[in-house]
Amino acid sequence: MSYDENNIFAKILRGEIPCDKLHDDQYALAFRDIAPKAPTHILVIPKGAYKDIVDFSANATAEEIDGFFKAVAKIAQEHHLVEAGFRSIANTGLNGGQEVPHFHIHLLGGKKLGAMIGS
Ligand code: 5GP
Repeated sequence: MSYDENNIFAKILRGEIPCDKLHDDQYALAFRDIAPKAPTHILVIPKGAYKDIVDFSANATAEEIDGFFKAVAKIAQEHHLVEAGFRSIANTGLNGGQEVPHFHIHLLGGKKLGAMIGS
């Protein structure tokens, strides 16, 4: 399946849909999840059109990958997630429960998160 240009995060990247923006640079955009699952729930997405972590890892340039993960770490620091710990999740495909087919990392924290996988 190829990248769907009409997925919701592509629309956010094009400015067609608003978001609660927290970070924006050449490689990554970060914004608050619309339905937060923790006191802090941030989504970090690459600027390029990659549908999931496999597509991103295989097809993004080394510069894009470096820039993206540097941004992830910076955002985690800036939102005070690092001291107390946090969870980063990249849901992928059907079994992973991925709803939006543009690669994204969830950063979740602000409380003890409990079991890694719910029922
Ligand atoms: P996935 O299940 O694909 O890993 O996660 C997609 C996430 O995007 C969900 O946590 C969902 O709440 C969030 N989401 C879906 N639509 C929007 C939107 O329009 N704006 C924002 N900020 N988050 C969204």
